[in-house]
Amino acid sequence: MYNNLYKFENIDNKINLLNLDYQKMCNFFLSIGEKKFCADQVMNWIYREYCDDFDKMTNISKILRKKLKNICIIKAPHFIEEHLSIDGTIKWKVAINNNLIETVYIPEKNRSTLCVSTQIGCILECKFCSTGQIKFKGNLKVSEIVGQIWNAIKRIRFNQSKKKRPITNIVFMGMGEPLLNLKNVVNSLKIILNNFGFNISKNKVTISTAGIVPALNKLSNMIDVNLAVSLHAPNDLIRNQIMSINKKYNIQNLLRSVNRYLSVSKANRGGVTIEYVMLDHINDEIIHAEELALLLRKIPSKINLIPWNIFPNSIYKSSHPKRIEKFASILTKKGFFTIIRKNRGTDINAACGQLIGKIV
Ligand code: SAH
Repeated sequence: MYNNLYKFENIDNKINLLNLDYQKMCNFFLSIGEKKFCADQVMNWIYREYCDDFDKMTNISKILRKKLKNICIIKAPHFIEEHLSIDGTIKWKVAINNNLIETVYIPEKNRSTLCVSTQIGCILECKFCSTGQIKFKGNLKVSEIVGQIWNAIKRIRFNQSKKKRPITNIVFMGMGEPLLNLKNVVNSLKIILNNFGFNISKNKVTISTAGIVPALNKLSNMIDVNLAVSLHAPNDLIRNQIMSINKKYNIQNLLRSVNRYLSVSKANRGGVTIEYVMLDHINDEIIHAEELALLLRKIPSKINLIPWNIFPNSIYKSSHPKRIEKFASILTKKGFFTIIRKNRGTDINAACGQLIGKIV
């Protein structure tokens, strides 16, 4: 009867509505012979009321509710474990088929950030990151990316005994490389930014990349959000050692692409966040800070220095806090807005680079 529904991604022969951005939702309702405004109504139920039960959608006719129940479903992946840190950070383990990914909620003074995963594992194998140590199992679907946010907001809003700060910011800094799952990440971003979706401002959404240049070149034509780049080195020699992706797309190539993105982007006042993990005696010398300042002189940027987080079997050590402060002070003197990122949730392995998905 609805033979044109094949184009909407589906599970168990039912279409998961969490896969559909507003435009696709409108097309879906038109394709089943309904009015476009049903898309507004259903998206309101999903993204305002956090309702996944068609029977409760009381402003929709009973006939349509029954029809929807037959052909679609609203299904976020299950949060199977919740780990609470003493600093308020929460890490959820999320079941995707037979694998686990992780989603992290980080409350701060004036905002709360949700860190979402985009892939199961990661193929990039950056030497200092634990996600690269596990086997890559595939890309997450839109519903699995959007579903992490949907579940987290629902829990923070309704399930917590103690009042938690509502989620204000989303960062694509969990497991995986977002730009290697470009299509699904962009379609998820459409739902995050849309008025009928999560309705979060582009200034509060950040995509972080290790530097997949061809995808970054495409990104600005597809969506506009904040950009963060995992640079982590002041020159190709060091970057090649710690991030093998640099052998494919070197620093100059990457920074050219970043500048291209910034020339189009209206998010984050046209600046990029440079992430720089502080590895003891690898990339944290005074000369490296000076080299970094020179490298970035023509790039509107703020610099996030990240104390390296330990994980089993790694060969690295984090820089001493004094070395990090010295490094930061050089960059600040050269005119860069530089912050030292506070590590959050280390007691539950929820900090940057500690997400491996396995049950610990
Ligand atoms: N693949 C994307 C998204 C990951 S974001 C990217 O590379 O940007 C996670 C951030 O934490 C990245 O900047 C990553 O390089 C950094 N990171 C990875 N392992 C880390 C570790 N052990 N300690 C601190 N930061 C780490």
